[in-house]
Amino acid sequence: MDFNIGCIAGDGIGPEIVREAKKVLTRTGEKFGHSFNFTEILMGGCSIDKFGVPLTDEAIEAAKASDAVLMGSIGGDAATSPWYKLPPEKRPEAGLLGIRKALGLFANLRPSCLYPELKDACPLNKETAEKGFDLLIMRELTGGLYFGERYTREENGEMVAVDTLRYSESEIRRVAHKAFIVAMKRRKKVTSVDKANVLDSSRLWRKVVEEVAKEYPEVELNSMLVDNCAMQLVKDPSQFDVVLTENMFGDILSDEAAQITGSIGMLPSASLAEGTFGLYEPSGGSAPDIAGKGIANPIATILSAAMMLRFSFSLEKEADAIEEAVKKVLSDGIRTGDICAAGCRKVGTEEMGDEISRRV
Ligand code: NAD
Repeated sequence: MDFNIGCIAGDGIGPEIVREAKKVLTRTGEKFGHSFNFTEILMGGCSIDKFGVPLTDEAIEAAKASDAVLMGSIGGDAATSPWYKLPPEKRPEAGLLGIRKALGLFANLRPSCLYPELKDACPLNKETAEKGFDLLIMRELTGGLYFGERYTREENGEMVAVDTLRYSESEIRRVAHKAFIVAMKRRKKVTSVDKANVLDSSRLWRKVVEEVAKEYPEVELNSMLVDNCAMQLVKDPSQFDVVLTENMFGDILSDEAAQITGSIGMLPSASLAEGTFGLYEPSGGSAPDIAGKGIANPIATILSAAMMLRFSFSLEKEADAIEEAVKKVLSDGIRTGDICAAGCRKVGTEEMGDEISRRV
């Protein structure tokens, strides 16, 4: 089959890590008989340099015309880059917010997986690390506290600040469906996280998620309060498969879940729209401190490409092949500097891409 992939290489290490992900996709296409066509799209600092704005209408149209978008990362060093002398709406990050909105990306997926070979980097106790974990946080991305009405004003002689946490049934329902669909491709378990003992929005969240669950009888659903979930993530993360939650809880829990792996440079992410469209990118940033040195770890971007095959193109065995190739590279002791340990062979970005391609 033919697939059109929009490629936002971006800034910093972005072009280096996206190049390797494209290499692995091309190899996977050759092996399984697919053709992946790439269209380069400028966004972030590189778009500011060329067009004066971080995201053009043409870039949005090119992204919309693709079957899915693969992204590196955007942005530079805020202390030294001229991009950060511009007003906030003209800075690189405004491009990211703009494209998420334009593409209707409402569900953010962040897997958090502890590779046995990297378990020494896990900050949890030895027995917990030994057990391993493989979970995925599904965060609602366009509603809740970050998008509700807000104001700061003086009332009765003192300042008052208000943020509004609002969710509609339809916003909850569409992200809940995504969580159950993803769980069907995994271990068929959803933990919905809320604060239903206090918040009205959480009580509606729980009710709607329970309704949606009836459409997926094979998937086990349980609900958990967010404070308990934060504890359980460090106590026994192996109990989780898909963790479904609203925007702010997801923002916090997904960073906690990333941190317990001890190697954030390994973590992919996906942001999904209605239907099969999605934008796939590593969880890390543009790492300006190491850009251009050829030492960035491309694995998170390569795993993001595997997520794209699984969730946007329904190419399960092709996605498995990439994920297995990554595991094989790790078990063969091949590492970039950020995850290198004694006795391993240290390689650069390009060689890591070659080694993974060879194992697909
Ligand atoms: P960062 O993730 O870019 O870097 C943090 C540390 O991790 C650095 O030491 C960096 O060298 C290292 N690192 C990150 N990715 C790596 C990789 N693939 N291989 C090896 N080491 C890696 O975070 P930051 O320094 O806070 O942000 C830098 C820039 O990235 C900022 O402009 C920020 O706005 C931007 N950013 C963009 C995105 C995005 O595009 N979605 C996300 C986060 C940050």
